[in-house]
Amino acid sequence: MVHVALITYTPDPERTIAVAARVSVSAVGISQLSEKLTPEMVKRLIDRLISSGHLSPFEHVNFTFAIEGISRVTSHQLVRHRIASYTQQSQRYVSFRKFDYVTPPTISAKAELKAKYHQTVSDAHRLYVEMLDAGIPAEDARYVLPGAAETILVMTMNARELMHVCSLRLCLKAQWEIVALFGKIKDEVEKVAPRIAAELKPKCYQLGYCDEAKSCGLFPTAAEIQAEKPSS
Ligand SMILES: Cc1cc2nc3c(=O)[nH]c(=O)nc-3n(C[C@H](O)[C@H](O)[C@H](O)COP(=O)(O)OP(=O)(O)OC[C@H]3O[C@@H](n4cnc5c(N)ncnc54)[C@H](O)[C@@H]3O)c2cc1C
Repeated sequence: MVHVALITYTPDPERTIAVAARVSVSAVGISQLSEKLTPEMVKRLIDRLISSGHLSPFEHVNFTFAIEGISRVTSHQLVRHRIASYTQQSQRYVSFRKFDYVTPPTISAKAELKAKYHQTVSDAHRLYVEMLDAGIPAEDARYVLPGAAETILVMTMNARELMHVCSLRLCLKAQWEIVALFGKIKDEVEKVAPRIAAELKPKCYQLGYCDEAKSCGLFPTAAEIQAEKPSS
């Protein structure tokens, strides 16, 4: 099961964004930038940045998460997001004599297939261990491990990229495991930066419609909106 812990982050994240934003609109020197910046001013500045799309100030805030219990299928999707830093447990240097793996709920729901799934994964793992015992290096034996294999990684991402990635990965059209992962990432951000966390949401909130072929029901698709318009 996916577990996320926020291990470190830029101190006073929302104030940091507001201070950076102030540089662009104030004629004050750097010593005065964070003076008299009340919580209300911070909130107002962030609201204005979001509504105007002036998002570079969000790049000054980083969050570092420890993530465990996701499959290699999902970590592969995750690392496609390039504006971030990742350090992942190595299948070259670590031998997995004890092996945890993810079972998708659709498979768990079908008893017969679930049993075959567990059997196939455990057969693959048995061969893996047999190869290790025969002196095959872990980096080669791992070729038989499935995408279901659980992994651990540390990820650092700035608040701007986090908003972008959540716009894609909190969409219910993304795969369930990465949706769950970013749900937990959002929960962690919420604890330290609730105003930023409020911007971690699927892209339809910003668009005002669903840009997928079929909507999950949160917003109508562009085609549905068009169909509802009275013809002129
Ligand atoms: C639902 C879903 C299905 C997907 N299916 C597939 C699939 O079938 N096959 C597949 O290969 N991928 C798939 N992807 C991955 C997708 O194509 C992107 O690679 C991934 O979402 C990374 O996001 P991003 O490109 O927005 O950029 P990030 O890497 O998160 O970067 C953020 C932004 O920075 C900018 N940027 C970063 N790097 C560059 C660059 N080199 N040049 C120009 N601009 C850049 C872009 O504006 C980008 O949006 C899927 C993603 C989703 C969400």
